Amino acid sequence: MSPHDSPNGEALARRFETALMPNYGVPPVALARGEGSRVWDADGRRYLDMIGGIAVSSLGHGHPALVGAVSRQVATLAHTSNLFLHEPEVLLAERLLGLLRAPAKVLFTNSGTEANEAALKLAIKYGKERGRTYFVAAENSFHGRTLGALALTGKRSIRDPFGPFPVDVRFVPYGDADALKNAVTEECAAVFLEPTQGEAGVVPPPDGYFTAAREICDAAGALLVADEIQSAIGRTGHWFAHQYEGVVPDVLTLAKGLGGGLPIGACIGFGAAATVFAKGDHGSTFGGNPVSAAAALAVLDTIDGDGLLEHVRTVGAELAAGITAIDHPLLAGVRGRGLWLALVLTAERAAQVQAAAQRAGFLVNALQPDAVRLAPPLVITSSEIASFVAALPAILDEAADVR
Ligand SMILES: *Cc1c(COP(=O)(O)O)cnc(C)c1O
Repeated sequence: MSPHDSPNGEALARRFETALMPNYGVPPVALARGEGSRVWDADGRRYLDMIGGIAVSSLGHGHPALVGAVSRQVATLAHTSNLFLHEPEVLLAERLLGLLRAPAKVLFTNSGTEANEAALKLAIKYGKERGRTYFVAAENSFHGRTLGALALTGKRSIRDPFGPFPVDVRFVPYGDADALKNAVTEECAAVFLEPTQGEAGVVPPPDGYFTAAREICDAAGALLVADEIQSAIGRTGHWFAHQYEGVVPDVLTLAKGLGGGLPIGACIGFGAAATVFAKGDHGSTFGGNPVSAAAALAVLDTIDGDGLLEHVRTVGAELAAGITAIDHPLLAGVRGRGLWLALVLTAERAAQVQAAAQRAGFLVNALQPDAVRLAPPLVITSSEIASFVAALPAILDEAADVR
């Protein structure tokens, strides 16, 4: 079966190919609507959404809290620009600071890459004032596609075609504290790290790596920037991934799950990093707009009010245990934490697993040739998780067989 083997999806895919840049290729499914953790394609086929728009749809699809908050806000005041302030952005900043439990200040953006762009500008300014000229990031890291964030991105296949970049970034192997220590001198302005590498394949570092990174940055006087664009807002069963090692970064970037599907990002500076930007240093017409801020508040309120952090830990453990219990020649194991996992394969057949899962009614993401990402809505139920685990052996059989 080919993708879009049904009439409406097929027609949409042809029009997509004609009207849109080839950037994304033609995606394999045309989605039409969603409810909870289920989505339906343009031909009415139902899927269990095990990827949540890449760890974005925290509350699933059509959640009444999100629908209500966004509908009310768009009808009340959709946009102000930053020429005028509004209550939702102030409330959201205060809510985030309350969750972080450390003195800090927030700057809102519209996306993840813009949050990192802000963090990089902040770090450049911090460095200039102190004679610090270079940055450190990890090999295989992903920090975004705009030029500043791309300069920090260690994945060479997406960085190299657009270089050289006007910032000096030195890359170290992820998870190696000694390599990090050697790379960070008193001329280093900032170290950018994901608490677990997302796009590299949901790869956690060894225990203690973030604590070591904190100590190394403190000793050298460099800023530690935690890119939690994918890992935060309950994804791991904690509000923020850096909190499970008890490490407080100097700068924290957020996006993906924060808006529950509405575009919003945040760059948060702690301590001295909170006041590096002076009036006029940075800006965004849409950043922190009222509708996205209202959406994010609904996400945070619902995670809190419905006990979703605990729920993520419970169903995430069920999902990981269910996968671990499957004995299959194509399955090497599972990596990750909470509802943020990678199925690790024994062969480069992730694309085949994604296609077989789709045919069986599950949306997953072939993240690396041998790793399949699972990042379902935080509201996914135990029985939905069980249905995926039950279907997985047959999906793996099919993926192992196709040529
Ligand atoms: C997705 C992601 C980004 C980029 O976010 P966009 O909203 O796609 O620009 C940056 N860093 C990490 C860790 C991500 O997962």
